[in-house]
Amino acid sequence: MNDLFQNRKLHGTHLGDILLDWFARHQRDLPWRRTYTPYHVWISEIMLQQTQMDRGVQYFQRWIQHFPDIRSMALASEDEILKHWEGLGYYSRARNLHRAAQILCHDNNCELPREIQQLLRLPGIGPYTARAIASIAFEQDVCVVDANVERLVSRIFNLKNPVKSRQTQLQINALCEEILPPGRARAFNQAAMEFGSLVCVPRKPACGSCPVAGLCEARLLGVEEERPVGAKPVQPIYLSMSTGVLIHEGRILVQKRQPDDVWANLWEFPGGLVEEGETPAQAVIREFMEETRLRVVAPEPIALFKHAYTRYRVTLNAFFVQLCSDPTDIVLHAAQEYRWSSWKELQALAFPAGHRKLIAHLNDDPRFQARVHP
Ligand code: SF4
Repeated sequence: MNDLFQNRKLHGTHLGDILLDWFARHQRDLPWRRTYTPYHVWISEIMLQQTQMDRGVQYFQRWIQHFPDIRSMALASEDEILKHWEGLGYYSRARNLHRAAQILCHDNNCELPREIQQLLRLPGIGPYTARAIASIAFEQDVCVVDANVERLVSRIFNLKNPVKSRQTQLQINALCEEILPPGRARAFNQAAMEFGSLVCVPRKPACGSCPVAGLCEARLLGVEEERPVGAKPVQPIYLSMSTGVLIHEGRILVQKRQPDDVWANLWEFPGGLVEEGETPAQAVIREFMEETRLRVVAPEPIALFKHAYTRYRVTLNAFFVQLCSDPTDIVLHAAQEYRWSSWKELQALAFPAGHRKLIAHLNDDPRFQARVHP
């Protein structure tokens, strides 16, 4: 432990108490904070990974309305689970929730265990989530370190090594455990995360009104914007993809992705990457043949849709295509199942983001409506 920290403790100033006091006055009114039901805490923790708070709250409320407890989630079909997750991305989170709910109903009377080691055995629950559930739902005295806490601790203690290094991670965790007031982990962990996301923000932290400014080493040295010390930014990868909307007798061809593929078990319109030396229109014809063995012709542009996920920046070129072979001659090569779906049936299926944008566009496209409702 560094001298600065020891000095602060000796002066009787406890960072944890300051953060708890701030939290008592400024915490956001979030639905899972009303009762701290373990199921609600679990869902909120999973949903808020990679998701902004406002969006997470909306999805949380819809989810709890539809799946009010672990049993209802366990009994749902995977298509139903994915449909209610649609738009949040990182669909493995939803599949893991579903599997974990089924395991809990089989082994533990549809209840979450209290112990970190038992939580860690469930799909989709790693060390961070296990500690969050253990402390926030079950009030166990363990620290939860997310990016907000990393930033806050790095600044207060002016940590100079890369924040993601193992050494710094251990240091942050140890400092956090030191600050945590015994018996107050539920409030303290949320306080530290919320303080980091509302006050000690990445750019231009609100140091002028910060209640721990007098104890913040980075602030005292004027280096708060240089903390935490980050890794190199990852360069995005740009991809061009083509997809085709094939309509036959008012029904639309969609296929379900393989269970071990990216966007596993989601539905999509056939298509794929535009290869070097090929136009998007040529790509959609080739992809139909490769994925379904169907021959399609006359690609007619619908629109371009841009979408970002992880480090990829995708441009999706969408076309109407016309069938040039027997609609029953489908042999799937990239999917587990296909359907000639009505427009209404299609609304109940879960699609990845780019395809959802395409569906929203089709809803307002008179060419499409004329083909599905001739
Ligand atoms: S003084 Fe500034 S950098 Fe330090 S904890 Fe407060 S907001 Fe963060």
